[in-house]
Amino acid sequence: MSSENAIPSLDGFVNEMKKYLEIYKNNISPDIIENEFQPRVAGREITWKERKDLIKQFTDLINQVEIGLNLIKSNSNVKEAFLKTNETFYNYYLNQGKPDSRWRLFQIAFFLSSIKSVVEKKDLDIVNVLHVDTGGGKSEAYFALVVFASFYERITGKEEGVSAIVKFPLRMLSIQQLERVSSIIIHAEEIRKKYNDIFKGSPFSLGYYVGSDDEFPDLYIKVRKNLYDETKNLKSSAPISKIISKCPLCPQDSKGNIRLIDDEKGKRIIHKCDKCGGEYYIYQSDREVFRWRPTVVVSTVDKWAGLSQQRRVRSLLGGNGSMCPKGHGFIPSGDKCEDKDEEYFECENIGENKKNHTEPILSIQDEMHLLREGFGTISAHFEGLIETIVEETSNHKLKHIAMSATLNGTKKQIEELYNKKYFVIPGRCPEGAGSPNDFFFEKKEGPKRIIYGLKPNLRDNHYASLRTLLHFAEFIIRSQKELNIDSNSFCSKYDIIGSSEAQELINQYLIPLTYHIKKQDAYDMGHLEDAVVGDRLKTHFNGSYVKGAVLTGDSSLDDLKKGIDRVREFVNNYDPKIVDKEGLIFEPIYATSVVSHGVDLNELNFMIFQGLPYSTSEYIQALSRVGRKNLGIVLLWFYPNRVRDDSFYRNFDRYHNSLDHEVRPIPINRSSRLGLQQTINSMFCAGIMNYLSNKNGRPIYLKSQVRELTSKDHEELVEFISKTYGKTGLDLNIHDEVEKRINQIINGNDKEKEFFPNILTKSGEPFFRNQSGMRGIQKQLVLELNPRDEAMLKQKEK
Ligand SMILES: [Zn+2]
Ligand SMILES: [Zn+2]
Repeated sequence: MSSENAIPSLDGFVNEMKKYLEIYKNNISPDIIENEFQPRVAGREITWKERKDLIKQFTDLINQVEIGLNLIKSNSNVKEAFLKTNETFYNYYLNQGKPDSRWRLFQIAFFLSSIKSVVEKKDLDIVNVLHVDTGGGKSEAYFALVVFASFYERITGKEEGVSAIVKFPLRMLSIQQLERVSSIIIHAEEIRKKYNDIFKGSPFSLGYYVGSDDEFPDLYIKVRKNLYDETKNLKSSAPISKIISKCPLCPQDSKGNIRLIDDEKGKRIIHKCDKCGGEYYIYQSDREVFRWRPTVVVSTVDKWAGLSQQRRVRSLLGGNGSMCPKGHGFIPSGDKCEDKDEEYFECENIGENKKNHTEPILSIQDEMHLLREGFGTISAHFEGLIETIVEETSNHKLKHIAMSATLNGTKKQIEELYNKKYFVIPGRCPEGAGSPNDFFFEKKEGPKRIIYGLKPNLRDNHYASLRTLLHFAEFIIRSQKELNIDSNSFCSKYDIIGSSEAQELINQYLIPLTYHIKKQDAYDMGHLEDAVVGDRLKTHFNGSYVKGAVLTGDSSLDDLKKGIDRVREFVNNYDPKIVDKEGLIFEPIYATSVVSHGVDLNELNFMIFQGLPYSTSEYIQALSRVGRKNLGIVLLWFYPNRVRDDSFYRNFDRYHNSLDHEVRPIPINRSSRLGLQQTINSMFCAGIMNYLSNKNGRPIYLKSQVRELTSKDHEELVEFISKTYGKTGLDLNIHDEVEKRINQIINGNDKEKEFFPNILTKSGEPFFRNQSGMRGIQKQLVLELNPRDEAMLKQKEK
């Protein structure tokens, strides 16, 4: 759908929805009793009333979709942005050799019903929740909205700044998602350039605001140092990007590598293709992100705790300021361009106090169901903080979009997390999932996965997992040999049409995946693979062998990327004759929950669980690593002596039939006293550094600057903090909390130039410390040798 005829096809889409609505209505007889149960739907019991509610929800969805469609038809800017979004995705898929890609129905419904908020800033107190089974193109759905918002804002006058923030709950972002989102933004920028008479301003760009490790450090200079050798000369070949290594614009069969290039003038690292020369603006360090305010900011939830330590974060939320005349990017009002000692440059230019309308409109939360309990409460306060700052700089709220793997408890979770209402897209089919009348999803023939639950008798489930791996490998080798020798009898034995189909089938199961609850178990697979699996394969099957890779939370981004590339390459380069010659070397993956989020590979279809994961939602996530496109085969080895495993073993069928319902409702309490105590210091510091600094047009981060605050400032700060919490009648007196902290800062013996949050931390007062992430404040334990033992050790060394 790259051209104008995309619009008539949307009319057809809406009409089709309306037809289904009629079917849903007609299938309910007028004399049903609302509170009675209807016949079981997809193995579940629901009342007629619930079914009617689902029809109402479907009606609402049609209305929302129509509003979006009418905007496209009636507003030429919306239409332009929509067509260019379409063109972006068309090119994106075309480059991957998929010219026939089409939007899926739920993606269109989601997209159309969300654009009103971007265009008219309406319904910002409603969170759109996108809920589909994992593996179904939900990322593309929200990427499409992000690209639309970027185009729309450019055509309506915004020339730079952030359009969308995307948040992930985990430290480890999905490497595949990083690659996809980078590729899409690069394609979008190509389109923007092509039509730069209507989409003015700076190039579309992408920033990663995620962590503090080597890949994503705080300072530009830390990314830069990887580009130079010890003698401070540029390395002869620039390093290849770890985010996106192959150029998404080069043709598929001759792709250039994307390398990191130092842009000395802009004090930033840019991505550049070594073949077509395309330059892409993808930022990895915090400082570059603040200075270049990328169109899309991909972040972790935890990273936003930085609002209480770092006064430049407000640049991402529409804060006042101006561009450095020397071309270094954005400077917050009253601040210096760059003055950090370790930073590579010093620039004394000062940001002007100018309003610039560069705030984001979209805030997208991936895997929202993981924001629960303490993590959820603290995140809720920071959500309030982010939104209050955006409201302050822009006079509008954010449109929140959330992805959730479950709808169980979602209403309460949204209320607590965002203080907003919610709207589910596409919503459940009123006639049950898998019904022939399901508008959005088709029931596939046959099962998606076959899951076996097993309990080992005499050995532990670790040994059982290894044995399973062995037998699996033996089966694959034997099958391949049979197929090589006599394809006809192989095909008739397994009821397969022809030898190429048979080969394709084997190829789907070449890479086994094992899942472990404990990191150590994953490592142990690697240590024991020879003894249990490899040695036997070697002696019995022409020297076949096993060489697994371990992926855990310890794995770096690079390891994960390599792991993913290895799987693809293995299957692509697989030679069926190898089993007859020198033997097949299996490359299984031994993993922990790190693979559950975003390792999306159609090549993985056989999985072994060593024990049941601790939470049902994690189990669902992990399960959906296999069986994405092909039939997934799963063996779940329960722990023989754990109560929970035993209970699930006994109720195996029932448990699996109601998996989604088993996901526990998500307890979050936005206004719990302990939660408030945990974050009040962060809100206080962020309020001064990011809110008052912006309001007053100058940075406030030192003791002396806090001393200068007027009583009106104090009042405004109290008001600001109350607003971030979003509820009245809190179990905490914010006015007192503010005054206590201000007194602590200005009355102590600290130097006037001291960074004020440090004064609070040093005070030793409970709850006078900032959150460093969203996990709650814990007392830090310092483990070191005591001085006497240290002296003894020194003695011995001599
Ligand atoms: Zn290229
Ligand atoms: Zn500068």
